[in-house]
Amino acid sequence: MRSMIHRNRRSHRVTAQRLLILGMLAVIGVLVTGCVRFPAPDSPPPTAPAVTPTPPGVQTDVPVEAPPNAEDCDATRSLRPPAQMPAPGRMPPRTTMADIVAHGRLIVGLDIGSNLFSFRDPMTGDIRGFDVDLSREITRAIFGDPGRVEFRVLSSAERVEALRTGAVDVVVKTMSITCDRLRDISFSAPYYVASQRILAVQNSAITGPAQLAGKRVCSARGATSIGRIQSIAPQARMVTTTTWADCLVLLQQGQVDAVTTDDAILAGLAEQDPWVRVVGPSLGEEYYGVGIPPGRDDMVRFINGVLERIRSDGTWWRMYNQWLSILDSGYGPPLVTYRD
Ligand code: GLU
Repeated sequence: MRSMIHRNRRSHRVTAQRLLILGMLAVIGVLVTGCVRFPAPDSPPPTAPAVTPTPPGVQTDVPVEAPPNAEDCDATRSLRPPAQMPAPGRMPPRTTMADIVAHGRLIVGLDIGSNLFSFRDPMTGDIRGFDVDLSREITRAIFGDPGRVEFRVLSSAERVEALRTGAVDVVVKTMSITCDRLRDISFSAPYYVASQRILAVQNSAITGPAQLAGKRVCSARGATSIGRIQSIAPQARMVTTTTWADCLVLLQQGQVDAVTTDDAILAGLAEQDPWVRVVGPSLGEEYYGVGIPPGRDDMVRFINGVLERIRSDGTWWRMYNQWLSILDSGYGPPLVTYRD
């Protein structure tokens, strides 16, 4: 009996040793031959056809608008600044500026997608550009502190309404002074002169307005650029978007053939894409002014005083050299005349 148990134990030990040896051989075999095979994954389902997404708010049924007009009403003649500007932080009582001081900040409507004029710096998150610097100069003149400013993002089409309803104190957003707009709001004297031009892809056959017949041309809704290009190139197929950046995306995706607006804005788009370029002659001049709510003549005069100061003390050129020198427009600050 004892010897049987003994034999059984021995044979178990032998079996275990054999299994161990076999296992080791199997592992060595796998390592040497690299023969582990996993089942192949199921092949992915067929991909969807490549449909290019469109930015929200794109419209193609664009009604015909009148070209911008600044001559008939002498739109760029604004109100004369006060003989003596109030000291920063000491606004005369019962003025629009005193109300703004009481609210603690200047609310400025602008865009954050207009490279060079007002855009969000991707590195710092700050809103920067020529129009932003101008907003801070106005803020400094009111409060004695350029930081007391709050920005509200507006599309081109929202500017007039935001001023009419008092949603913002001023609009500083590449906004052209026109007779049409002066019916609803007020403007400062001009602070910049731009020219409407065309942006096309480098190898495009579009070199000016003559090649736009039948072509899709993009502008942001609410911009003066639409009416002007419709009057110069009536055969162009107008496409409108909410922002200028959306027009660049449509051009990059081949969904429009050209973009048209002020050279100042087009230069900012061209700076973001080496494959596009500004082409053709000036299609007309655009005088940028600070948009001011209607009936605020004290604010118009005050801001014109700020503009006089930045033109005479070198601030305008410093801002131009920082943001707009790539335009090489040859224009300095606009010549200003007042109506009283
Ligand atoms: N200067 C033109 C305008 O005021 C275009 C600029 C813009 O839409 O931002 O309509």
